[in-house]
Amino acid sequence: STGTSQAKPVDGADLVARSLAKMGVKYLFGVVGIPVTALATFAQKAGIRFIGLRNEQAAGYAAGAAGYLTGVPGALLTVSGPGAVHGLAGLSNGLANSWPIVMISGSAPTEEVGRGGFQEFDQIAIVKPFVKYAGRAENVRAVPNTVQSAVSAAAAGRPGAAYVDVPAEVLHQEVSEAEAAALLNALVDIQPFYTPGGLRKALSAPPPDVAAAVSLLRNARSPLVVFGKGAAYAHAEDGIRSLVDRTGIPFIATPMGKGVVPDSHPLNAGAARSLALAGADVALVVGAQLNWLLHFGEPPRWGKDVKFIQIDISEDELKLRKPAVPLLGDANAVLEQINVAIKDEPFSLGKDHPWVAKLREKAEANGKRLAESLAKDVVPMNFQCSMRVVRDELAKVEGPHPILVSEGANTMDVGRTVLNQEEPRTRLDAGTWGTMGVGMGYAIAAAVVNDGKRLVVAVEGDSAFGFSAVEVEVLVRYNLPVVVIVFNNSGIYGGDRREDAELGGPYASDPAPTDFVSEARYDQIIEAFGGKGYFVRTPAELVAACREAFAAKKPAVINAVIDPFAGSESGRMHSRN
Ligand code: ADP
Ligand code: MG
Repeated sequence: STGTSQAKPVDGADLVARSLAKMGVKYLFGVVGIPVTALATFAQKAGIRFIGLRNEQAAGYAAGAAGYLTGVPGALLTVSGPGAVHGLAGLSNGLANSWPIVMISGSAPTEEVGRGGFQEFDQIAIVKPFVKYAGRAENVRAVPNTVQSAVSAAAAGRPGAAYVDVPAEVLHQEVSEAEAAALLNALVDIQPFYTPGGLRKALSAPPPDVAAAVSLLRNARSPLVVFGKGAAYAHAEDGIRSLVDRTGIPFIATPMGKGVVPDSHPLNAGAARSLALAGADVALVVGAQLNWLLHFGEPPRWGKDVKFIQIDISEDELKLRKPAVPLLGDANAVLEQINVAIKDEPFSLGKDHPWVAKLREKAEANGKRLAESLAKDVVPMNFQCSMRVVRDELAKVEGPHPILVSEGANTMDVGRTVLNQEEPRTRLDAGTWGTMGVGMGYAIAAAVVNDGKRLVVAVEGDSAFGFSAVEVEVLVRYNLPVVVIVFNNSGIYGGDRREDAELGGPYASDPAPTDFVSEARYDQIIEAFGGKGYFVRTPAELVAACREAFAAKKPAVINAVIDPFAGSESGRMHSRN
């Protein structure tokens, strides 16, 4: 007989790992335990980087971010029962943000199911609301196909979440090496079909729709381009940039769209956002849902006669919003069509066009007002002077643009306005769902997918950081170039809500629901693991800490004490920005 018949048999765990690798998956985040520990080791052997986190929730956020940043689904590994439940955080966040993520979970041994088995639960049922695909590998031979279905579902069309359930006994069932190879060879090799914008061939919009869009733009009095993280995911930066440069149409970015065109571009109307939305007569929306973040495209924030042209890969999105001109397709491909049509018959507003000038003047006035508020150094620090320090020190970092992770209430609100993104896909924040606690997972993913070559700076509120603070151990363990800056105002929103206590009642002397321990030493958490901590109270100390930590590119936590009175309740709820 041949050598293959003597080769070691391949078990289910090994086959999951090899199937993931065959589908192009590069990163697996998770927490090992019964029954999936060996699977993580097999993943490493198969050339997939396994990153062990301390909680499945953070691992799920990491997997989604890795999917967004690379265009190939990030994978999440969870143990059965409670581990799978924690993994739901990652799936739901992937769904909300349209990020490709595949969760692989062990589940209770089939023979124990229905009898109070170890960590038994119907995991397929609980993931269902969040996923595009959920399948169980009923036996070892079903593994490759189930993995293929999940990975392609997550990556295709509008990206999202998918789930593979592997009962404990399946992970141990064996096939011969020859049969494993045959099963894997029978899979469709989808790797050539990955584009930056997902798993597809560039999908163009129908030419008459493109012509209608171009005609609307050409005849508009006050056109606006709006782009979101779908445009970033599609790597549509060159197409959007040439459209803006060629036509002189002003633009605004959604929070994670920032950087698709550099924030410093003269046509950036972000600092005149309200005026831009209210005054636009035609808005070209690229890879951004017309959801709460964009005020549903409705008055009063938008004009009542505004006409939307919307480019999206999702037919559902276009059916829901009913834009004047829906352009179903890949952002990159459709922008190319639009740019070609405009090139044939060019038009440009020019910088003296009344609409362009009005937005520029407003943006300049707002920018000046902001600069004044940022310039004032105060101790205890407020959000403004501390964010200015972070902005200025980030701008001095040499080499590739750092990836910014940003979450928290005031910290994210102020950071979005103050911190500049000059490159696409360099900002990760609480996103479509306003998910807090994503920062450590995102920072880990950003560092890992860039192979440690880019600095990652996580600007975190103290509450947001607290959700996953122990994940700083992961930063140290893998020696990731992540600097976490905690804006520590000792509470959610702010650390002092004394007026709440005036309401009275039996618990009036308890801490307010928004309170944390005052001036907690978050910097000492990372020191427990051998990382570098800084505790700073003044702008000068913050400057020094940022300089040292950004230059070192080693795991660090800068704990910046902010005045507990400086925060406002997030969101100024009517705008929920
Ligand atoms: P933001 O939060 O920046 O507003 P959203 O997550 O709301 O962005 O919207 C992103 C949109 O981008 C989704 O509607 C998604 O379907 C779409 N999208 C994803 N990939 C592509 C692509 N390759 N081409 C066009 N649209 C895309
Ligand atoms: Mg706080």
